[in-house]
Order: sequence, then structure tokens, then C-alpha cells
Amino acid sequence: MSRYSNDSEEMSEESTGRSRNHHIFQRLGVEEDESTEGEESDTNSYTSEDESDDDATFSSKDMLECNFCYKSLRFVVFECINGHILCTSCCSKTNSCVICEPRTQHSHVKVACDYEPYGCKEVVNYTQIYEHVNSCHFSPCLCPQINCSFQANTTALGEHFMINHPLRIPPFKYDQIFFTFVRVKDDVTILQGISDGELFVITCKTQYIYKMLSLYHIGPSRRKPEYVFEMLVLPHEKYSNCILQLKSEVVNVDDRIYPSSSAIYVSYDYFKDGLLSIKVRISKIGANP
Ligand SMILES: [Zn+2]
Ligand SMILES: [Zn+2]
Ligand SMILES: [Zn+2]
Ligand SMILES: [Zn+2]
Repeated sequence: MSRYSNDSEEMSEESTGRSRNHHIFQRLGVEEDESTEGEESDTNSYTSEDESDDDATFSSKDMLECNFCYKSLRFVVFECINGHILCTSCCSKTNSCVICEPRTQHSHVKVACDYEPYGCKEVVNYTQIYEHVNSCHFSPCLCPQINCSFQANTTALGEHFMINHPLRIPPFKYDQIFFTFVRVKDDVTILQGISDGELFVITCKTQYIYKMLSLYHIGPSRRKPEYVFEMLVLPHEKYSNCILQLKSEVVNVDDRIYPSSSAIYVSYDYFKDGLLSIKVRISKIGANP
């Protein structure tokens, strides 16, 4: 185990974030990797603020992966104030670090969210990072405008959309019915909430002799639906008894790929001069109307 041969040397170093971090890399064998570029920048991501914190904070969970199977460590990891890591079972056997002074404490290793570059400030216990990442509000979404490659969290995306892509339909108010229309030649019609800038898309796909209308929210696809919508196609003079209406949860889409979802099937003769008039209401789940 030559990898650990300079442990005692490490011990004499000041207990700064840099040396702690360095030590963890060494323990995990990262230094033996041929490429050390990632390590350099990760080490440099420590700031003086981090040094006063007893918890180790990593800028990416990728650093904590097994060097044998390359899978991320999923069990609870504990770390003493000098950065010596212990697994859960050993931590329960000893209250002190086996390498340094027996008085030192162990704490949960914490990691920054994957979406830190997109604005998430969360620093989460390592064991909870997957759960957090899967429901993180800052997970980036692709702009719904065809041919636009802009990606951002939903708030920044709303601002981007307002500046760069003029809306065909004025922003709507939540919980209120509004009239709008879709064009037979448009695959997507983009809507924007007036109060929060959130983006929604009405898709109009061709299915046999029908047009299939659905509504989606632009948001992290791993998040549960946060909105419900109602859609009503205004009656056609020929089929005035036929009411085409739909109420459903709004599926989140973050990559312009709209999965099959609840839809209204409309025959082409509902379109007048290439336009179909509809009534829509969108509400936040759990909000009082
Ligand atoms: Zn492994
Ligand atoms: Zn220790
Ligand atoms: Zn996050
Ligand atoms: Zn865009």
C-alpha cells in the first residue's frame, strides 16, 4: 500500500481545505490517474470560506467514485476533520479517527449539487445527493424554440425567451381560462405564465387523419408534474354536439422531445383558415385558485 506511505507527512501539514482535499484524492487513488487536470481545478475550487467548515465540500460527486468499478460511492461516508475517510460500519466501531488524534470528530461528507453551474447553491449530504439532483429546480432545460440551443434553469430560460423569442400569444394568468389558437402548420405553440415566466408548449402532432393536441411544461423531466391544465376545443358548426375537452396533469419536458401524453384528437375540418381556436386553463398543483 505505497499509496498511503506518506500519511505521516500529510499529518504535519496544516489542516487546510487544500490538504484535506489532497488527502482524500490520495486515499481514493485519484492521483495515480494519468490526467491530473481535473484534480487541479477541483482542488482550486476550495475557497478560504471552506477552510473554516468542518464538512468537506466537493464541487462534484464524480470525485467520489470507486477506482476499481468506477461507480460512485453510494454508502454513507464519514470524514474526520483532517480528511481521513471511514465507512459506515467502521465509523460505528470507533468514535475516533484511526490515523490522527483520537479526539477528532467524524462528519458526513457533503457535496455540491451537479447543477451548481446553473445556479443551485445546495450543499447536500453525500448520501442524499442523488435524491436532490433528481428533483433539483436548477436542472437545465433546453429552450423550446426550434433551432435555439440555449439551456438554463426555468427562471433564466423564461427571461431568455422574453428577450429573444417574441411570443405569438400574450402571457397568460394561472387559474384563469384564456382563449388562444394553434396553427395547423405549427408543431408547437409556446405559452408563458405572466407571474413567473414559466414556459408551456401546446404540441399539435399529425396522427392519421387527426391533429393531436397536448400541453407540456418546460421543466426538469425528472420532477413530478407541478401543474394541471384544461383544454377545450371550440365547437365546430358541423358537429356542434361534440365537445372536445381534456383535463390532465402537465408533463415536464426539458429536451424538446415531447412524450406521448393525454391529448385531444381533432379532425382537420376543425381548423378554419389553418387556425384552431381553443380555451385553456393552467393551474399550479396545490395552489389555491
Ligand atoms: Zn467498487
Ligand atoms: Zn483523521
Ligand atoms: Zn440542486
Ligand atoms: Zn431560445
